[in-house]
Amino acid sequence: MTAIGLGMPAMPAPVLAERRPTRKIRVGSVEVGGDAPISVQSMTTTKTHDVNSTLQQIAELTAAGCDIVRVACPTQDDADALAAIARKSQIPVIADIHFQPKYVFAAIEAGCAAVRVNPGNIKRFDDQVKEIAAAAKDHGTSLRIGVNAGSLDKRLLEKYGKATPEALVESAVWEASLFEEHGFHDFKISVKHNDPVVMVRAYEMLSERGDWPLHLGVTEAGPAFQGTIKSATAFGALLSQGIGDTIRVSLSAPPVEEVKVGIQILQALNLRPRKLEIVSCPSCGRAQVDVYELAEKVTAGLEGMEVPLRVAVMGCVVNGPGEAREADLGVASGNGKGQIFVKGEVIKTVPERDIVETLIEEAMKIAETMEPEEGAAPVVTTP
Ligand code: SF4
Repeated sequence: MTAIGLGMPAMPAPVLAERRPTRKIRVGSVEVGGDAPISVQSMTTTKTHDVNSTLQQIAELTAAGCDIVRVACPTQDDADALAAIARKSQIPVIADIHFQPKYVFAAIEAGCAAVRVNPGNIKRFDDQVKEIAAAAKDHGTSLRIGVNAGSLDKRLLEKYGKATPEALVESAVWEASLFEEHGFHDFKISVKHNDPVVMVRAYEMLSERGDWPLHLGVTEAGPAFQGTIKSATAFGALLSQGIGDTIRVSLSAPPVEEVKVGIQILQALNLRPRKLEIVSCPSCGRAQVDVYELAEKVTAGLEGMEVPLRVAVMGCVVNGPGEAREADLGVASGNGKGQIFVKGEVIKTVPERDIVETLIEEAMKIAETMEPEEGAAPVVTTP
């Protein structure tokens, strides 16, 4: 079957900046840094010692496109569960360790792909770097030095008065130097803050200090709406300078939502191939259909579609035909009717009540003409 273009670019899609060169590490099967694609992470919200629930949530995250998952490890029961979780998870598992250095060793022994350590929260952490580096090296485990504004080393809090970008960076660079002194280089770094301005500045400064792969995150970003905006703004500011090798959107919302937002941020910046994209107008006094309802129904009807389809849903003839013509598929509405465009040509005009159904039918037809490797089979539901 002949594949049609569907807007698949022959050349790589343009990006705002070249990736800043970083050294590449492995988090299990996923490469982070260097020329590796920017990965999307999330963290489970289940009790880690509840192995089945944790694996169930990891499966949901995997299905949503999560590349790497992190699990908390606050108790011995959680540490005991790590081996089973790491073995059965389809994506690499990172153990998140605060306070108790013994769990760092337990996670490495359990076969976790990586361990996140928070130096500010682990007492006498610096004294144990040699042993941690040796154990991680023996097991092929990478680390994340995860500096966090809320748990900054007390020395630095005293020196800077609060978690400034300089304080976050000094903490991270200090800990990195301790590992490097012991010949250990398989780590990435994060310097998270809940204020995107502080966070962006910290990562900019850190990126000038070394070639460590960087894990981006706005910590405690808030509920879904606010957290999405904070993360998109901060990640956008950094990724548009080529800074960032793996991202985690933190939301007070189910972790699958974090993954969806992270993927959308990367797609918006052409750092990941775009899949379904709905181009819909905001509507205005000229609209001749209910654009919100139309866009929502089309989005719902095409949910799960894996092909890179651009669908324009436009409310009137001012910009409608232009946008609809530029998209793979589109509708320009007016006078109770919708002009349906496929690849720039008007293929039919349908009554308003048939617009959604027609767009979904045409989307299915286009998707079927694609070669399998261009995208997984679409899952299309009717609204
Ligand atoms: S396409 Fe028409 S209805 Fe939509 S925002 Fe533009 S002018 Fe308004």
